[in-house]
Amino acid sequence: MAFEVIPLEPDTVTRPAVIPAAEPYRITLAGKLFQAGHISIDEAAEIAGIAPTELEAIFMKRGMITRNKIMVCGGAGFIGSNFVHYILEKYPYDDVVVYDKLTYAGNLENLRNAERSHRYSFYQGDIADAEYLDEVIRKEHPDFIVNFAAETHVTRSLMFRADEFLRTNVIGTHTLLEAVRTNEHIKRLVHVSTDEVYGTLELGEDRKFFETDPFEPNVPYSAAKAGGDLLARAYRHSYGARVIVTHCTNNYGPFQHPEKLIPNALFRALRNKPITIHGNGQHVRDWIYVRDHCEALDLIMRKGKDGDVYNVAANVEKSTSEIARTVLRMLGKPEDLMTAVDDRPGNDLRYSLHINKIKDELGWEPRTSFEEGIARTIQWYQNNIGWVEAIRERDKEFSKYI
Ligand code: NAD
Repeated sequence: MAFEVIPLEPDTVTRPAVIPAAEPYRITLAGKLFQAGHISIDEAAEIAGIAPTELEAIFMKRGMITRNKIMVCGGAGFIGSNFVHYILEKYPYDDVVVYDKLTYAGNLENLRNAERSHRYSFYQGDIADAEYLDEVIRKEHPDFIVNFAAETHVTRSLMFRADEFLRTNVIGTHTLLEAVRTNEHIKRLVHVSTDEVYGTLELGEDRKFFETDPFEPNVPYSAAKAGGDLLARAYRHSYGARVIVTHCTNNYGPFQHPEKLIPNALFRALRNKPITIHGNGQHVRDWIYVRDHCEALDLIMRKGKDGDVYNVAANVEKSTSEIARTVLRMLGKPEDLMTAVDDRPGNDLRYSLHINKIKDELGWEPRTSFEEGIARTIQWYQNNIGWVEAIRERDKEFSKYI
């Protein structure tokens, strides 16, 4: 099954009309345009007047092409798979190694397009399994590790005990930190975490969390994430480990498991089933389009400062009922499909983050408006109905909730 991957922005660069005759000059010109990301190696080779492989060799020798191998733990999940596509599309010289346990949330269908690339490889493994993790690291020799592997569903952490959450989110993070500490060739571990570790804000107050705010998690999921984040801090302090922790707000976009709000509302609405809204639907989350998050993580991985913590958000605050209403409106479905159910225990009222640090230090800003992002997201799910049908088929027990 092939899935549509949203392409990069079209190339808007105007190429020089006249190509100078002198070859060194042509190579320099091609190099400048190539390095600025305006042209591909094939286009650069055309300008330089030599074969692409020859030009590649020249660029590599001059240090203009760097080849990084990025190990993506949890790369078969929602954000991880978007990150894999993002890297493969944006960096023609980077290799990606996905390491994923393939829990119910991991889905190889999310990676079908990546499988076509010779720069992609996959290992089924658990981040808490130190022995196998080490074996893969020794074999693949990654330059960077980005960790998305986690148990992520708050409701599951409340309904079915949180043992797996502690195992993966705390012990698994510890294993990765040990791997970075003991493998000098790994330039950096980026540990992806959540805004939920800061606890809740009140509805209506205009406060947002800074990176320096204390952790006050209110549910087992966020407590387990906070545990992993604190271990990262301790490893930096004790051993100088090359690690960065990020805290991001709610993501939306392609490949999100249909247990989560937006795809769940969408698929239930398409079947004219009621959309369940916890409590009064007033809980506010800050929503970021997943590709913007990937872009931030990429920048943090390459240019961030070891030991630092970065908040990532789009500053788009919307209540749960606003989100459900938007989905229904865009699908042309009636609002009375929204049905209130009892609130979730410990349900935080509002999350919101300051993002001045990543803006000022790394020049990152979200690019996608909510209107644009949600339209793309809904379109993607409508174009890829088979993707959710495969999940329903795989997990019959869960499928009654979709
Ligand atoms: P997801 O649940 O969609 O995917 C998690 C992936 O991790 C799956 O592929 C799963 O198979 C894998 N995994 C689970 N346990 C593993 C283990 N022990 N070893 C190896 N792989 C394992 O999660 P997501 O929504 O993509 O979230 C990724 C990260 O981003 C998480 O750390 C989450 O806390 C964080 N985050 C998510 C959001 C969001 O809105 N989704 C927001 C902020 C932060």
